[in-house]
Amino acid sequence: QSKAIAATDVTRTICTYCGVGCNLDVSTRSGEILSIQAPYDAEVNQGHTCLKGRYAFKFYDHPERLDAPMIKRDGVFEKVSWDEVYDFIATKLQTYKDEFGPDSIAGISSARCTNEENYLMQKFIRAVIGTNNIDGCARVCHSPTALGMQRTFGTGAATNSIDDIKDTNCILVIGANPTDAHPVTGAKMKQFAMKTGNISIVIDPRRTELAKYATYHIPLRPGTNVAVLNMMMYYIIEAGLVDASFIESRTEGFDDFKNEILSIDLDHIETVCGVDRNLIKEAAIAYAKAPNAMSFHGLGVTEHSQGTFTVMQIADLALLTGNIGRRGVGVNPLRGQNNVQGSADMGVQPHQGAGYLDLTIPEVNQRYNTFYGVNVPSHIGFKIPEMFEAALDGKLKALWVIGEDIVQTDPNTKKVIKALQNTDLVIVQELFMTETAKYADVLLPGASFLEKSGTFTNGERRVQAVRQVVKPIGNAKADGQIIVDIMNRMGYPQPDYDPKTMLEEISQIVPFFAGITWENLGKNGKQWPVAKDGTDTQILHQKEFKIGKGQFIFKKWRETSELVDNAKDYPYILTTNRELEHYNCGAMTRRTGNEQLLGDDYLMIHPIDAEKHFISEGDYVCLESPRGKVDVKARITDEVKEGVLSTTFHFPEIMINNITGDVHDSEAKCPEYKVVAVRIRKSKGK
Ligand code: SF4
Repeated sequence: QSKAIAATDVTRTICTYCGVGCNLDVSTRSGEILSIQAPYDAEVNQGHTCLKGRYAFKFYDHPERLDAPMIKRDGVFEKVSWDEVYDFIATKLQTYKDEFGPDSIAGISSARCTNEENYLMQKFIRAVIGTNNIDGCARVCHSPTALGMQRTFGTGAATNSIDDIKDTNCILVIGANPTDAHPVTGAKMKQFAMKTGNISIVIDPRRTELAKYATYHIPLRPGTNVAVLNMMMYYIIEAGLVDASFIESRTEGFDDFKNEILSIDLDHIETVCGVDRNLIKEAAIAYAKAPNAMSFHGLGVTEHSQGTFTVMQIADLALLTGNIGRRGVGVNPLRGQNNVQGSADMGVQPHQGAGYLDLTIPEVNQRYNTFYGVNVPSHIGFKIPEMFEAALDGKLKALWVIGEDIVQTDPNTKKVIKALQNTDLVIVQELFMTETAKYADVLLPGASFLEKSGTFTNGERRVQAVRQVVKPIGNAKADGQIIVDIMNRMGYPQPDYDPKTMLEEISQIVPFFAGITWENLGKNGKQWPVAKDGTDTQILHQKEFKIGKGQFIFKKWRETSELVDNAKDYPYILTTNRELEHYNCGAMTRRTGNEQLLGDDYLMIHPIDAEKHFISEGDYVCLESPRGKVDVKARITDEVKEGVLSTTFHFPEIMINNITGDVHDSEAKCPEYKVVAVRIRKSKGK
């Protein structure tokens, strides 16, 4: 007797990992997920995914998922009802607000959450708590990009689309390893680099996969991006390859900028970068001569003490050569996390509200007041590192962290742990018992991308629909619904979480979302700004910049204080990288089977350095910095320069952030993960 086979349903949604924003077709039968396929009709990924996206369904029902709210009592987590946990949180937060003021409370939102959820979290912190102490993962990745591009162009987002690679003649990739961190874009770049006649320039201390195929690889010493970019601009100006008419009509400040660039000390720069000046000159001239040149940058640009300044120099390089405002050009940050662009767009930052409006300006602040129906404070709130300082000073009483493993991924782990231990109430909303969750007083089980709807904005400003595939597991809830429930408990009327209704609200306060509706997103989403009639924007700055003219602002290279203070006793430079198999703290990818492909962090070390310390392949190496020490297994390779080491931070067993430091980008406070002064010795392991 034949049994009827249940029908297979296919739901189109968006990957939860990197900023490429691949579309995924998720097949289900009777509520069970069978597989993920890559749709060919998706503009973003055209039939491709990487292995992270392809197997992204394997973690959502993992036995270790948090499936009920919990309160820690006498050091032990106890499962409680949603009603009990909501009452507990609302009462505590109201007490801190009344006794210590709203600034005693802070929130960290998540790039894994939808735009609508991020909007709700910042609204909760601003309108219900009454503080601007809200921040997100952009702080530790692309906050310098947003700031640097806002200063030079007026808008802190990618100017073009990834698909423009097919329209360009030259790609300049700085401080990024897209093959591992943005694999679908990385594959496009590799195809571009392999085609005869195309120019590809990679500026990176490591000989990455893309660097192997590049026309020019500039293996600079970590921490010298500004010096190399200034040298490139020197040679372009010297060769008369600037775009004079673009500079005249579209920019300001060129004369002063030119004088500063022409006065840089080439001998000094060549020495500090450790790269032959002729290589830099050839690459600079190739970039300037290309009819169309695009730049792409990653965390190797931003996670430095001069991160914001590096972004400004990349933007100025584009202005200098007129590579702005048409297809196949522009400045294109490779956003690391799936919705880090969207979380900042929605106001998850302490100085600008939803839509990047500066809430310290009285008229703008008034606009938020009217819209939210309460007074929003006009003073800037804490950035994440400032939250930790406030906690250590006893000023921060409560911290609500959504989907960020700050213990594993923020620098100087011991300091982060101390800050959490010094905070009276730590609320962690998570999928798994992460390193941060272990320090929580309250655990809230959020929902994964497969269990809720909303929108994510990828690295090319493309707002795409995330569609619920399955019901939240156990007693978990959509993160947005949890925030709404607490808002209501604390007396602020907010309708239940629903992306359609939320987008209607967001489109009224975020100017570049004016024409976005749930219905008009269609299959391929819309790239903001979206006009009221629904017309979207593939290329920014075509006729003018948001601030009128593009700004030339010279920045001089300076050595990071990490090396000035420590290089004598800690002579090696450790830089951090990512691996294809894993995503950030690995909470999801270590539960999809990817851990069988890569099950541990490892340290890249140059053969000459290994020999000096009698280190063989697979030996443990003790890495020691002024903050602490860790033991990592050695992989001997000339992919790194002599004197430079590199490792990932995907595994809590290693906890590499025990040794990273407190130096931050001087402007945006992004941590300097890319230059850590260390000394090494062979060790016996953990
Ligand atoms: Fe695409 Fe990035 Fe997801 Fe890989 S991790 S499938 S490249 S969005």
